[in-house]
Amino acid sequence: MQIPNTLSETHLQLMSGKLSAENLTLAYLEQIEKIKHLNAYVCIWNESALSKAKQVDAKIKTGKKLGKLFGAVVSIKDNICYKNHNVSAASKILKNYISPYNATVVQRLLDEDAIIIGSTNCDEFGMGSSSTNSIYGSVKNGEDNSKIAGGSSGGAAVSVQMNTCLFALGSDTGGSIRQPAALCNVIGFKPSYGSISRHGLIAYASSFDQIGIISKDMIGISRVYASIKGPDDYDGTVVLDDATNASSHEIKIAGLAPIVEQANDHVRKTLDMLETVSSVDYLPFEFMDYMVPCYYILTMAEASSNLSRYDGVRYGHRSNHVDNLEDLYKNSRTEGFGDEVKKRIMLGTFVLSEGYFDAYYAQAQKVRRLIVDSMDKILVDCDVIAMPVITGEPRRLDQSVSDALEIYMSDIFTVLANLTGMPSIAIPMIDQNGFKTSIQLMCKQGHDQRLLDIAKDFYL
Ligand code: GLN
Repeated sequence: MQIPNTLSETHLQLMSGKLSAENLTLAYLEQIEKIKHLNAYVCIWNESALSKAKQVDAKIKTGKKLGKLFGAVVSIKDNICYKNHNVSAASKILKNYISPYNATVVQRLLDEDAIIIGSTNCDEFGMGSSSTNSIYGSVKNGEDNSKIAGGSSGGAAVSVQMNTCLFALGSDTGGSIRQPAALCNVIGFKPSYGSISRHGLIAYASSFDQIGIISKDMIGISRVYASIKGPDDYDGTVVLDDATNASSHEIKIAGLAPIVEQANDHVRKTLDMLETVSSVDYLPFEFMDYMVPCYYILTMAEASSNLSRYDGVRYGHRSNHVDNLEDLYKNSRTEGFGDEVKKRIMLGTFVLSEGYFDAYYAQAQKVRRLIVDSMDKILVDCDVIAMPVITGEPRRLDQSVSDALEIYMSDIFTVLANLTGMPSIAIPMIDQNGFKTSIQLMCKQGHDQRLLDIAKDFYL
């Protein structure tokens, strides 16, 4: 059976009776079996997926009203809660944890008759750029199994790359949707901060985290986005309704001059490719060197606070080596968290501690504000800011990077959208010589649909 490539094709085939949702789901499940070696999935939910598929088929047969995403098969990252299903954030501290409730996005997907097929592997608590910090082991890139898939939503990107679902929900705190999407040559969309509820998303850094969509179907992404966005009683930070107005004037694209000045070979080739699609006005930007430090100070601070809830008492892993209360906390956390997570908790606690707070945390907050202001200024005259997504080719899995800063620095192009709340989309491209890369487009916070409309012209 040929699996349809887009949501509209899926709908056509289901409505014409050529295909049943059940058979479609079975075909995707078969595809998941074929890519097991890539380690993209944590759980495969045959039973609940097939039961939802049968409900969809029954609705089609009886002419009942169908949801907008009927028959769309979706994977969710292992940090999004689905009632009565396991969710672990790829961490030992939550291994075997069963969610007692649905994330708002999950509830909305189900209400629109989407079929959730399984959960995808990722970096522990979303902390990483290569999907190698996971208790389930590393995710492999489907195009070249010796390479990383990118992170932290690496499993999500591979689930789409290898046609095991039509859409994947991931989360993006500093690039975790766009980077793996770029390394796996699929589209990755991080909506505006505040457009999609984070209720039921396991928190990493709450003022940065955003749920988003990975797919090969650009129009489908708009439809999924429209179905899951919008106000939610469970998340007071969802305030934006899409402010988009279709406008007919020519799109003006800005780039950041320091990116051209510091470009390596990969980045230069990417910028050249961008120039073939659109002219770009390169503008000065004085905070290039401050973005990554500012991002990591603030996200580690927020992470250290968010992760204090894993104490071995209420849920998650509890140590067996416990003589007193302090041991319970200490040993449960020591055994439950991985090295990268522990490092961030310690650094985050440090930047928030008395005597250092003003020098690090407060200072980084000020820098964040300056970055937001400078982007606002650029977006007075320009519609879109364009830049690369990644700084180079995907690394080999056996190539260890001893310098942690080198990994953090590879987030240089993606953290901007999270620091500012702007929506951002990574669009895969290929040139005549077979060079594959991705272009990232960003625009004003709250103008998500407009960004998606513009992105369509870049996706060939
Ligand atoms: N690589 C970044 C980090 O480790 C981004 C991760 C993310 O977006 N979840 O913080």
